[in-house]
This record gives sequence, structure tokens and C-alpha cells, in this order.
Amino acid sequence: MKTVNKIYVNGEFVTPHGTQTLDVINPSDNRKIGEVILADEFDARNAVEAAKQAFKTFSKSTVEERIGYLERLKSAVEKRKKEFTDVMIEEYGGTFRFSSLSNEFTGMWFDSMIESLRNFNFNPIINSSKIFLQPVGVVGIITPWNASNSSICSKVATAIAAGCTVVIKPSEMSSLQTQVLMEAFHEAGLPKGAINFVTGLGNVVGSELAANPNVSKISFTGSTAVGKLIAKTAADTMKRVTLELGGKSPNIIMDDANFEEVIPTAIFGAYMNNGQACIAPTRLLVPENQIDKVNDIARAAAEKVVVGLPQNDDTIVGPMVSVKQFERVQNYIRIGLEEGAELLAGGEGKPSGLEDGNFVKPTIFTNVSNKMKIAQDEIFGPVLCIIPYKTEEDAIDIANDTPYGLAAYVSSPNIERAEKIAAQIDAGRVCINGFRHDPMVPFGGFKQSGVGREYGVYGLEAYLEPKAVLQ
Ligand code: NAD
Repeated sequence: MKTVNKIYVNGEFVTPHGTQTLDVINPSDNRKIGEVILADEFDARNAVEAAKQAFKTFSKSTVEERIGYLERLKSAVEKRKKEFTDVMIEEYGGTFRFSSLSNEFTGMWFDSMIESLRNFNFNPIINSSKIFLQPVGVVGIITPWNASNSSICSKVATAIAAGCTVVIKPSEMSSLQTQVLMEAFHEAGLPKGAINFVTGLGNVVGSELAANPNVSKISFTGSTAVGKLIAKTAADTMKRVTLELGGKSPNIIMDDANFEEVIPTAIFGAYMNNGQACIAPTRLLVPENQIDKVNDIARAAAEKVVVGLPQNDDTIVGPMVSVKQFERVQNYIRIGLEEGAELLAGGEGKPSGLEDGNFVKPTIFTNVSNKMKIAQDEIFGPVLCIIPYKTEEDAIDIANDTPYGLAAYVSSPNIERAEKIAAQIDAGRVCINGFRHDPMVPFGGFKQSGVGREYGVYGLEAYLEPKAVLQ
């Protein structure tokens, strides 16, 4: 049994003022594996005060000093790759494949900020005026359970690069991961108060950060619903906000694509992180006149998707993070059936032999209309919708017809054609011919998928306040 009973404030592990506890449950069998003591508003305010005091000197650190801090953070995090993978498997059922791969890349968040810093001009001159790009202040970082480490590392790297101090409020469902991360960041030995962690509930600690007048910016990753609440609260003190929210990403397969290759890849992509990924390509748009061929390939590919215990190295889809999330996905599968979508694979209930955990049968609906609820809502589970389109224009219209605009995917051997389509899609990121990731290129959403951009220079600018000195 693991106990997380400390928060990290002003360079020290301290017992929180809050006394409420939360059980940590292993989603593979729903057994209790630990307990976390939840911090409260008082703890959040203390952490903000520590960050505010630290900001006075940290904001004046040199670029070289900050590069040194980033290097130390990177090496402390990289030492714990295996530990992170183990807790991700235990705590939220992240598969061994996905968790170890994502931890393999954790260092890139720090490397990309070091590179951005080295090339960044903090004092541009416009006409004869000097512009000073100053760190925005104390940043409240609020993150989700499905991408806890990568979200926190990416945001912390950017804040530290900019000269900001931070108070991190990770998801209360990521407490074991938070424990490892707190230890790593402590070991990196940054000035006291530069990095603080307060583990608690969203509507207690998270909302305190969004409201606290000493917090200058909120960097949030999570659901669109909570993002809206945070934006409303933050508006009272006119905080800067970066919001990375939900998605329902289209994956357009053009008629000239190699279906035998791209359809199975599309299915595996939709199931990444057990289908609990904001950028998952959950709407597969295919030419209407080839739907039978697509269905045959998709059915065969679905049979190869291994559902199982997340620690097994051949598992592609592990359990949903919680019973609540399992029920939510089941409900959407029922809605899909009621809406008249054709079930190609999976369906309601648990796969046999996995009844104790929150396992969902990887599900594919075909002949889905984009108007259906299963095509419009972010389900956040292994449920793929195959949606037929008539023409290229029709495909673009369907791709854009949701409230979201986080990511999109286009497959065609004709790059010029794919780029023309990419130009017409309302999404912050369009990947051509497969999944791509680059921590130097801007990431963020159009429409209700968010506000602002993260990563690289675009991300860095969002933590800086330009001051123009005219003479
Ligand atoms: P969530 O919105 O429920 O919670 C996210 C964080 O916000 C948690 O730390 C939570 O405690 C906190 N929170 C909850 N209520 C709050 C409030 N009233 N005030 C302040 N903070 C509050 O999201 P989740 O279920 O943890 O994560 C899944 C969601 O995150 C999905 O919608 C997914 O698409 C999204 N997500 C987006 C990205 C991206 O980069 N765009 C990446 C990962 C996940």
C-alpha cells in the first residue's frame, strides 16, 4: 500500500493542511493500492505565496542559469523512467508499451526548451524602442490524469525557461505519478519556491489557483468543460490563460491511399493510451464508394488488437482509468447502437477473463453519420467511428463539423493534395501520412479545443509579458 501524504512547498516536503483522503485504485482489478491526503485551499495559498516570494529573484535569473536548471530537471526525470512506467501502469492502466515509450521521450520537453531559449531574443528592438519580454509571474499549472507527466514536464520546462515560478496541481488521480515527479524535481535542486506541488481536488485547489490574485497565468490541460470554468474564474483577475482541451480528431483517408496500410494504423492510433488521448484520431473519414473494402480491413485489424493487463508487453488496450470512465464509454456504445450506427467490432460489456477491471471491448462503429452523438462528443475510450464521405469537399466539411479543432490526420501519397486539404481543416495540428510529434512546433486547439499554444518558441512567448520602452 502506498501513501502520498506530503505536498511540496518552498523546497520542502510538508504535511498538507487538508485532511481529506482519496483511495488510489488499480483499474485492472479495482483493488485499493494506496491513499493520498488531499491538500486544500489553505495549502494552495501557501504554495502561491512561496512561488510569489521566489519569483522576485527567479525572474531575474540569466538564460544560462535557466538552461542549467532545465538540464538538471531533465536528468532527474530521466533517471526515473522505469519508476514512472511502473506507476503509470498501476495507477491508470497505461499500457507498458505506451507508458515506456512516453517516458522514453520525457527529456525532450527540457531539451526543446533549452534549444528555444538559446535562440530566443528577450530584448528585440522595434524602430528605436526596446522591448523587454518579462516572465509573466507565478503560473498555476493544472493537469489531467491521462498525460500527467508529459503535461507537467512540458509546462514546467516552459515556465522555468521564461523565468516564471510555478504551483502545480496535478490530477488527483495521478497522485502516485506526482509523488515520483516531486522527488525528481526536488532532486534537481532549483531555488526554493520556484516549483511547488499541491495535490488536491480540482474544485478546491484548482479553483483556488484560478481565482488567486497572486497567480498571473493558468496553464491548463484537461476537459473543455473544466477549461471553460477556469477561463471564467481567471477572467476576474484578468489572468493569462493557456487552455489545452478536448478533441474529436478527424482522420481523412483519401481515395488514392493504400488502405491495407493506413486503415490498421488508423485503428491502432484511435486506441492510443487505451483510447484516452486528446489527439486520438477517433473519426475515420473514408470514401463512401469504398466503405465495404474499408469495413473488411477494419474488421480484420480489430481482431489483432490485444486487450489485456497493461503490464503485458503485447497489450494494446488496457483498462479505463476508473469505473466512472468505464460506465461513460459503455453509455456511448449504447447511444451509438440506439442512433443506428452499425457495430463492426466490440460492443457493450467486458472482454471475457477481464471482468474485475475497467476493460472495454475495443469498438468500431461504421456507416456513422457525423451528426450522431458518438461522432460529435469526445468519448475518451477505445471507440472509433467510421464515417463515409462523398467528395473531397464533403470530407473537409465533415472534418470541420464538430465543436473541436485539436488535431487532424490526412493520408494520401499525393503530398500536394494532402497539404491542400490540411490548409482547409480547422485544427491546431494536421499530421500527413501518420502520427507525428515535434516538441518545437506549436501545439494547441482551434475552436473549443483550447486557447493559445504550447511548445517551443510559441509556448515560451505565452509565459512572457512584452514591455515596450519608448524614447
Ligand atoms: P478534467 O478537466 O476533469 O481535469 C483536469 C484537471 O482539472 C484536473 O487536475 C482536475 O482536478 C482539475 N479540475 C477539475 N475541476 C476543476 C475546477 N473547477 N477548477 C480548476 N481545476 C479543476 O480532465 P481529465 O478527465 O483529468 O482529463 C481528460 C481530459 O483532458 C480530456 O477531455 C482530454 O481531451 C483532455 N486533454 C487535453 C490535452 C491537450 O493537450 N489538449 C491533453 C490531455 C488531455
